[in-house]
Amino acid sequence: MIAENKTPRLRRKVREFKKISLTALLSGLVTIAVLMTLTIMFISSYTSQKQSLINNTLSLNYSSAMQMSQTLDSLFQSMQGSLKYSANYFPEIDYADANKLDSTLDLIRNSSNYFNSVSLIDASGIIRGSSPYLEKSLGQPITSDAAKKAFKSRDSYISEAYRAPYSERRIVFVSEPIFSPSGEFKGMISGSIYLQENNILNLSFGSQLKTSNGSYFFIVDAKGTLLFHPDRERIGENLSENQVVQKLLNGQTGKEQYKNLAGVDSLAGYYKVPTTDWGVVVVSPTQMVYDQLNQHIRMLLLYTSVPFIILTLIVIRVARKLASPFVYLADLVNQVDQGKVDLPVMKPHWNREADLLTRTVLSALANFRKQKDQLTYDARTDVLTGMTNRRTFEEVIQHWIDEEVPFSIVVLDIDRFKSINDTYGHHAGDQVLKHIANIIKLSVRTQDVCSRFGGEEFVVLLRHTESKTAYQIAEHIRVSVEQSILPIDRSVTISAGIAEYPLHSTTPTELFHLADNALYQAKEEGRNRTITIQTVTK
Ligand code: GH3
Ligand code: MG
Ligand code: MG
Repeated sequence: MIAENKTPRLRRKVREFKKISLTALLSGLVTIAVLMTLTIMFISSYTSQKQSLINNTLSLNYSSAMQMSQTLDSLFQSMQGSLKYSANYFPEIDYADANKLDSTLDLIRNSSNYFNSVSLIDASGIIRGSSPYLEKSLGQPITSDAAKKAFKSRDSYISEAYRAPYSERRIVFVSEPIFSPSGEFKGMISGSIYLQENNILNLSFGSQLKTSNGSYFFIVDAKGTLLFHPDRERIGENLSENQVVQKLLNGQTGKEQYKNLAGVDSLAGYYKVPTTDWGVVVVSPTQMVYDQLNQHIRMLLLYTSVPFIILTLIVIRVARKLASPFVYLADLVNQVDQGKVDLPVMKPHWNREADLLTRTVLSALANFRKQKDQLTYDARTDVLTGMTNRRTFEEVIQHWIDEEVPFSIVVLDIDRFKSINDTYGHHAGDQVLKHIANIIKLSVRTQDVCSRFGGEEFVVLLRHTESKTAYQIAEHIRVSVEQSILPIDRSVTISAGIAEYPLHSTTPTELFHLADNALYQAKEEGRNRTITIQTVTK
């Protein structure tokens, strides 16, 4: 409905608007090409980077777990070595000398820093001394399952993590039996590590607890109980359901991507500690890898967007330059069509096709202009004499009258021309016509207009000329013709009639008619003369 109301001009504008411009087309194509290239680049970079980052993280975590497990292993060997050394010393000790015993135990605990507490148990399972000094346990039998097991085994022992009966502490217990030189069992010396307090483990690994990128590690015992974790509150938690811990419990070491118990996708490396049957797990949240990837992609985007913007600007500029001849030529043809402009000097275009098009169109326009000029000339000119024709005369007289330019009109007719034709032939008659036309043309100024009105009759329009002056000019022509040497062997005369605008009339037809009447009068009065129409006759 709306479209029907639109004017054709508006509809044409809307149609043109809907058409795509060369600039938009080229910029669009380049943008699509660049965006597609960038997308492919980003996708392939993202995929390959992701896989290699995941693999690197897994390998790194695996080797960290391995190193930590080795550190733990040698740590426990040292602990056991230290206790063994002390055990060799104790068979000699006098349990009655409580002071000496305590200071010896203090020495053992403080010299190594391995244990949070050290105790001495005699051959009957009674606690004989402890560091730090703990009065209420002194003289008491051992109560914890771990200590009982160790006591029973009479061998080097490392316990699983357990909760101490009185203190509720989470503890790992390491012990060495004491034998007399004769091989008699004398008791044992034990060291306890308080898992949730400052201890040798967090002294050794504390700095590696949690890195800035979110990676962390934890240690589980042979049953999957957490011995060491950045979050101390979680120590003692059972992790045997954890996919990676299960593998450790099965005696495996390795690396894998898995979901932890909280459902967080993680990258873990895990390794068994030979001495203790514990397992070390180093974990990085997979999100960490994605964060790095996103950072990488952001940088890539930043680095590629600058050249992309520059490229787009160049393309827009080039496309505009490419499109300019089309717009320019369309505009030029339009103006030439309306007869407005002179053809410009052709400037070569750097683009071959655009250059060819510009040259072809300009040359076609030049030809068109030439043909049009020729046609216009032909339509306005009399072929034989080269004077303007009757149509032009009518245009000019109307134009001058419209502009109120004062002028005189002189109508000239060759006397007895028929007889020239009859005597000398038509061709000779033509030559005479041409000759007289030349005399007329040479006798007037450039601003005047000479026309061949028809046959052997001419009309001269003398601009800004009163009939008095027109008379003189007409007379000059008449005499010149009479006196001129013609291509025939006799002289020819002409007669002329004159009227003046606006003196005699203000309409072209009447003016001509008046001048023609004057001419008729000249013919009547004997020819070879000039007569100005009299005002009274008007
Ligand atoms: P008048 O003095 O009364 O004007 O006598 P006239 O013979 O000149 O007049 P008329 O009108 O009787 O004759 C005009 C002649 O001009 C008739 C025609 O043969 C001749 N004529 C007209 N046009 C041409 C032309 O283009 N070439 C030639 N050679 N003759 C022409
Ligand atoms: Mg005549
Ligand atoms: Mg005539």
